Amino acid sequence: MTKEARQVLGLTVAVPGLVDVNGIVRVAPNLGWRDADLAGDLTKALRDPGFPVLVDNDANLAALAEHRFGPHRNAANLVYVTGEVGVGAGIVMDGRLRRGGQGYSGEIGHIELDPAGPTCRCGRRGCLEAVAGIGAILAHTAPDASPSELELEIDEVVRRARNGEQDILALLEDVGRHLGRGMAAVANMLNPEVVILGGYYVPLAPWLVACAEEELYGRVLAPGGGGCRLEVSTLGYGAAALGAAARVLDSVDSGRLPAQR
Ligand SMILES: [Zn+2]
Repeated sequence: MTKEARQVLGLTVAVPGLVDVNGIVRVAPNLGWRDADLAGDLTKALRDPGFPVLVDNDANLAALAEHRFGPHRNAANLVYVTGEVGVGAGIVMDGRLRRGGQGYSGEIGHIELDPAGPTCRCGRRGCLEAVAGIGAILAHTAPDASPSELELEIDEVVRRARNGEQDILALLEDVGRHLGRGMAAVANMLNPEVVILGGYYVPLAPWLVACAEEELYGRVLAPGGGGCRLEVSTLGYGAAALGAAARVLDSVDSGRLPAQR
């Protein structure tokens, strides 16, 4: 191998959905996928490339990125929360990503917060993501927005909030409070040192975090919220992609050296 040679160590794909421990995408509602063997299909399409092809949940990978590269990397117990149309969590406890029995941990978007609330994509009512996901905001401001327009529409919400439009401020306060109630459930259960809000929660954070913290600290049994801080991700919309790279590096760190090619 020459000094300048580069070698691909692995390929990891982040998917917003349930990915089982074997890398099968069981359900990805936003993509309309069910039981898709994405890793197998990619390996075949790449003609057995000789490096690992992995598929993982986007929240898990973003949590790995925060744990490895983020400003809270010294926290052994952190939860990353995606702020997309779906809301999911990646959970790092005692320094390790915790996937659960079949790999489905962190589906906090379906914690029921308001039994009389709006219908969730899962078919139930008043789930966290139905009342505090990005869709809950856009249902009021841009109900016909397509997925490709989300970023622009969120920019518009930020602009209106900066202008002090009362209906937008009230909407964001409501979303922030629901988010805080959801995070209180997370903090009561897991006692994280930090909950990191990602995705579209980042630009909206100035109007969400204070209300969310008030609910969080008011609803956690442990004094001071058990030390849980609510922070905003600094890794941007590419956090899951960064975590996909981290996942490959983790396997190298743990001693699985790639074959020289
Ligand atoms: Zn739901």
